[in-house]
Amino acid sequence: MARTPLIAGNWKLNLDHLEATHTVQKLAWLLRDAKHDFADVEVAILPSFTSLRSVQTLVDADRLEVKYGAQDISAHVSGAYTGEVAGSQLAKLGCDFVAVGHSERRQYHAETDEVVASKTKAAFDNGIIPIVCVGEGLDIRKAGDQVSYTLAQVDGALAGLPADRAKDVVIAYEPVWAIGTGEVATPADAQEVCGAIRGRLAELYDAELADGVRVLYGGSVKSSSIAQLMAEPDVDGALVGGASLDPEEFAKIARFRAHQVGL
Ligand code: PEP
Repeated sequence: MARTPLIAGNWKLNLDHLEATHTVQKLAWLLRDAKHDFADVEVAILPSFTSLRSVQTLVDADRLEVKYGAQDISAHVSGAYTGEVAGSQLAKLGCDFVAVGHSERRQYHAETDEVVASKTKAAFDNGIIPIVCVGEGLDIRKAGDQVSYTLAQVDGALAGLPADRAKDVVIAYEPVWAIGTGEVATPADAQEVCGAIRGRLAELYDAELADGVRVLYGGSVKSSSIAQLMAEPDVDGALVGGASLDPEEFAKIARFRAHQVGL
């Protein structure tokens, strides 16, 4: 099955809504050849909550092909959860995607696999595609346990998720040692774990479902590294942090096919 690559930009805690609007406009202008640039690739950005309304207005008004979503979602539906943002609120803002279980959420907000599973469910309950982030830290990589560790996170995040939802999930393999460090995983490292994730999906569900799920790589992706990563059979796109804040660089990443020539 042909999987449509997804290049998603995680803006983290950067850009106010004016800067976000400007950045989306510039990105859309750089990727203005919609027929070519969006033919077989989805491009999405994940700004701060405070920018979502402005991004929605811009994308709708100018009918931009850029998709967007949030960086987090509450596991709760509504109620006394100060500071939380519900899936229904994100859906009202037209979010296509939401990142779930990013390593920074796991590390700084103590998100467990159970919480990640609840947030994955909350996303689907509201018609939003979760980008479930998994990946090992440096100590685990050094011990050679990256595959078993990451697969356990996949098991946790997808616990109880029925096949008719799992078929649409996006999984982002993001080794923590590669996030924001400039140390990108080798294509072989990325393929090892992304391939294992697809294998686990086949075990949890079936081979056909696994074949259709997009597995992204994330961790210091740049325009200079994307083509080699995308050449791996089980890497279906990228979750891009720092480099997605620069529209020129992010557009080059989205146009990875242009620099795959001569690989
Ligand atoms: C991320 O935060 O998901 C990420 C991959 O960041 P960076 O590209 O900056 O390593």
